[in-house]
Amino acid sequence: MKKWVWILMSVTVIAVITIAGVYINSIYINRRKPTGISGNELLLNMIRQGDPRWYKSGKYWVREQYTENLYFNGNEVKGVVLHHTAAAGSAEDVANVMCRPGHKVSCHVVIDKDGTRYVLAEPTDITWHAGYSKLGNRFKANEFTIGIEFHGNTLEAPLTEAQIESAIEYLKPIIKQYKIPAENIVTHQMIRDAYREAVPSNKKAWPKVDITPEEYERVLKALKEAEVI
Ligand SMILES: [Zn+2]
Repeated sequence: MKKWVWILMSVTVIAVITIAGVYINSIYINRRKPTGISGNELLLNMIRQGDPRWYKSGKYWVREQYTENLYFNGNEVKGVVLHHTAAAGSAEDVANVMCRPGHKVSCHVVIDKDGTRYVLAEPTDITWHAGYSKLGNRFKANEFTIGIEFHGNTLEAPLTEAQIESAIEYLKPIIKQYKIPAENIVTHQMIRDAYREAVPSNKKAWPKVDITPEEYERVLKALKEAEVI
């Protein structure tokens, strides 16, 4: 065979392989796109589906693991206190620590960046998230508020959309059932500042830096948009 025939054949074969490759790849990408689920999420979904502790509520995964670090019942559910965890490790780690017997800190729900919720207590239980606090005219906010911990540090990065959406999913029925007014949805920092102003003599009540005013406003805005408040 002549040399130019070989060259033509080689070029043709390379062209066909390239075009086929691009085509097959585009089909693959198009098939993957609509689900919006990565390989890791797919694996996570499979693991959670086989685990009775997990269930899906609306869009997000929920794990109920009730902590012993609480007082059963007695919560008047008149407000919501927002926190960020600012903790190293995963949201699951934070939830597990709050469930550890004898631990002095807990809350009602820890919300991970992907919207996953670790529910640690019933709304009617008193958890230990507020410490020295004052909301409206009352001290001891633990006794009448729900504690929400967003995983992450809002001084470094804002809340994710999934976190806000998941918080709304969690809060909507509670706010409706207990008729919680918008002014009683506050941050940890707000109720600590109010306490410090009322009781300046208590040197143990350190100033509390927690979820930022900007992120607090985002949550409030989302709650209004969803017609929860
Ligand atoms: Zn806090």
